[in-house]
Amino acid sequence: MGSSAAGGGGDGSGRAGAGDGTAIEVRGLRKSFGDLEVLRGIDFRVARGEVVCVIGPSGSGKSTLLRCVNLLEEPTSGTVTVAGVEITDPEVDIDRVRRRIGMVFQSFNLFPHLSALGNLTIAQRRVLRRDKAEAARVARERLARVGLTDKESAYPAQLSGGQQQRVAIARALAMDPELMLFDEPTSALDPELVGEVLAVMRSLADEGMTMLVVTHEMSFAREVADRVVFMDGGVIVEEGAPEQVVGAPRHARTRSFLARVL
Ligand code: ADP
Ligand code: MG
Repeated sequence: MGSSAAGGGGDGSGRAGAGDGTAIEVRGLRKSFGDLEVLRGIDFRVARGEVVCVIGPSGSGKSTLLRCVNLLEEPTSGTVTVAGVEITDPEVDIDRVRRRIGMVFQSFNLFPHLSALGNLTIAQRRVLRRDKAEAARVARERLARVGLTDKESAYPAQLSGGQQQRVAIARALAMDPELMLFDEPTSALDPELVGEVLAVMRSLADEGMTMLVVTHEMSFAREVADRVVFMDGGVIVEEGAPEQVVGAPRHARTRSFLARVL
């Protein structure tokens, strides 16, 4: 995987940095809820095509970080730049940027009254203004990609948790995202269903998708991530190659976390 060729900065289109191979850049990010400071100065960068796994204890701020990356939460201070657009700039039309970011949550959040196909076509039609035939064509292609060609007519309640999460991933992919954010996508699944979802994520990574993944699946982090970020208490304690962070952590806090989850 790895970053694409380094290039110049601005391209004159108002998307300064879009050509430099950076998918996500977070600088000095802080987020408070009332008196509680949840993110206490986060700096990191994700290159195009890179897979970064975020690990850390419950309450360390992982979900808040992901939610700041697509502005589901508004940072208290700091900047977030996604695909060359500084989304923390109040002038930016966040909806335009957000549609370039796929997001998959722990709870699958499918529309219960729509079939798998309907779940994949609705945003394509409403947001991307694709016509019915084109939306259905893309939907079927994405369902095939997650191995669910035979389930296009099924409603969420008729699908297993693993199948529902694969539909949720396909739904995000139907929007042709430039990057994908995953927040503990397998945490709500029965253990025997985790593998099928991780396999889909692994194939996306192999195809070069830029991915920021909060996960407790250490084998996935070790095998698929280009880089692992360990967060605790609203800061990045350490980051580096998976074999270093997971295999030979430098910090006592990382070691004690890994001792609990491995
Ligand atoms: P993680 O995903 O690592 O478990 P979170 O980002 O969900 O951590 O939460 C970090 C901290 O922020 C927790 O103490 C949580 O209770 C708090 N928090 C998260 N969202 C909100 C919110 N909307 N309002 C108040 N506190 C919140
Ligand atoms: Mg979380």
